[in-house]
Amino acid sequence: MKRVLAMLLILMFAGACLAEATVAPTVEAAVTPTVTPTVTPTPEPTPEPGRLQGIRIGIDPGHQAEGNSAKEAVAPGSKQKKAKVSSGTSGVSTGIPEYITVLEISFKLRDALLAEGAEVVMTRETHDVDISNQERAKLLNEAGCDLALRIHCDGVDSRSVSGIGLFVNESFPISEESRRAAEALLPRMVEATGAKERSVVDSDSYTGNNWSEVPCILVECGFMSNPEEDELLNTPEYQQKLAEGMVEGICDYFGR
Ligand SMILES: [Zn+2]
Repeated sequence: MKRVLAMLLILMFAGACLAEATVAPTVEAAVTPTVTPTVTPTPEPTPEPGRLQGIRIGIDPGHQAEGNSAKEAVAPGSKQKKAKVSSGTSGVSTGIPEYITVLEISFKLRDALLAEGAEVVMTRETHDVDISNQERAKLLNEAGCDLALRIHCDGVDSRSVSGIGLFVNESFPISEESRRAAEALLPRMVEATGAKERSVVDSDSYTGNNWSEVPCILVECGFMSNPEEDELLNTPEYQQKLAEGMVEGICDYFGR
């Protein structure tokens, strides 16, 4: 009996050795010669070329943690002066200040633009800055942006007013192009969000628009004085819709 067991053990050991000896080379033999010549090497996955390749977009998230009431000229050569940065509005329902909401929207816009291959320049990425509206415009001019978007939310005395409105200046070299861009953005933003469509307004009263040398739009994404819209403006889902609507409008404007 012992001898039989011993034989069995020897056989099993031999079998294992045999298995190792035979399996290892056959696997290599099977894989190496057949796979290499017949299978075309898979190319590195290349990202889909975005629709906004070669386009540089400036984003100015409105306001900052602390407003700056020192004055600056509202337009080049103008004697009229306005506060460097106002403190902005805040949510009637959420209590969230505008400077926080608009930076969140701006980050989503930035990411959506980058995903389309655009270059993005931002005037601020934190709240604790002190950059005047004039300085923000100059920063985006110097960066050679093809289009500048100033991201804001609105606030009025009435709680019933809502919707998206875009503002462009009316008597500057870039006014016509700015209006053309705004008219491309507004319907796309409304389509993406389901918000009430207001209008594209011509006004020379915005410092940041007037100092811009590139097409520039002040985007009022909605009213924080309207409780429902205030709540929406502060959800990531609605912020994403706003960003995607803007991207579609930007693609339309550049014919992409
Ligand atoms: Zn604002």
